[in-house]
Amino acid sequence: MKYNISIVIPVFNEEESLPELTDWINRVMAIHPLLSYEILMIDDGSSDDSWNIIEELSQKHIPLKGIKFSRNYGKSAALHTGFKHAKGEVVITMDADMQDSPEEIPALYDMVVKDGFDIVSGWKKKRHDPISKTIPSKFFNFVTRKISGIKLHDFNCGLKAYRSKVVKNIEVYGEMHRYIPVIAKWNGFRKIGEKVVQHRARKYGETKYGLERFLYGFLDLLSITFVSKFKKSPMHFFGAFGTLSFIAGFFITIYIIGRKFYEIHYKLPVREVTDQPLFFLALVALIVGVQLFLAGFVGEMITMNSPRKIDYIVDEQTGF
Ligand code: UDP
Ligand code: MG
Repeated sequence: MKYNISIVIPVFNEEESLPELTDWINRVMAIHPLLSYEILMIDDGSSDDSWNIIEELSQKHIPLKGIKFSRNYGKSAALHTGFKHAKGEVVITMDADMQDSPEEIPALYDMVVKDGFDIVSGWKKKRHDPISKTIPSKFFNFVTRKISGIKLHDFNCGLKAYRSKVVKNIEVYGEMHRYIPVIAKWNGFRKIGEKVVQHRARKYGETKYGLERFLYGFLDLLSITFVSKFKKSPMHFFGAFGTLSFIAGFFITIYIIGRKFYEIHYKLPVREVTDQPLFFLALVALIVGVQLFLAGFVGEMITMNSPRKIDYIVDEQTGF
């Protein structure tokens, strides 16, 4: 490890904030001369002057490093790239818009190094955001808490601290930055803590996410839950439902045929097989059953052939 702390900052059109934010970080870190640190700014395809400013800053402040994407890939991609390049023993992420306060950095660092947390998530207990954001956000946090079993109040806080091992071993893609603690937990990093942090209103620029964040956030939660449970064996999910459906269809068919014979035998009024609701139910159940089964099978083949990049995380080794 080259530094005590890597500060990873995703940047998308934040030109006004960057110099102030850098100064502020440097001021805070100057009070803690024993902590070495690097700043990593990931320009996520900004169309304003952000990149020029990052380049200028990187000449003035050392070590401040910048990485520029060719287009806007999203915050998750920016974080992922930052994580890959981070050389600090503790990696701290914060938003570029100065809503998160750098004053929290030393305490977050201590919680990871001294208290042994794998992840410490900021909690914007007193938020300075419009109500259209805070109320849905409460709901979102409640659902995520229930589904993941992680007791955090504020999953989507941009200010978080990670033990280096955590960020090197998880993969953040799509819009999954909202669920990094969930991804981490499913990868075996269980010591997840929380720290109340100061939060401020956005000073410059505007928010990059509208209300669609809640819909996408919810869909992401579904897929992340699903993938983490069934990635290794899609057949367990699809196969189970497929088999159930097929068995149901099978027995309904037997019943329909049996009844027909019975009616013929006893010379009762005979109904056309195709003239009753049960027939269609049986048909649908059989087809859906086979379809689900096939989906599981195809999923299984894909899993078999995809490289396992980050699956098994070794905690420690001995006697080598
Ligand atoms: N961001 C990014 N790529 C995007 C959207 C946002 O890197 O496509 C960055 C943005 O510059 C900021 C952070 O992610 O540093 C959080 O964005 P924002 O403040 O707009 O989100 P909010 O605070 O409204 O949740
Ligand atoms: Mg913000």
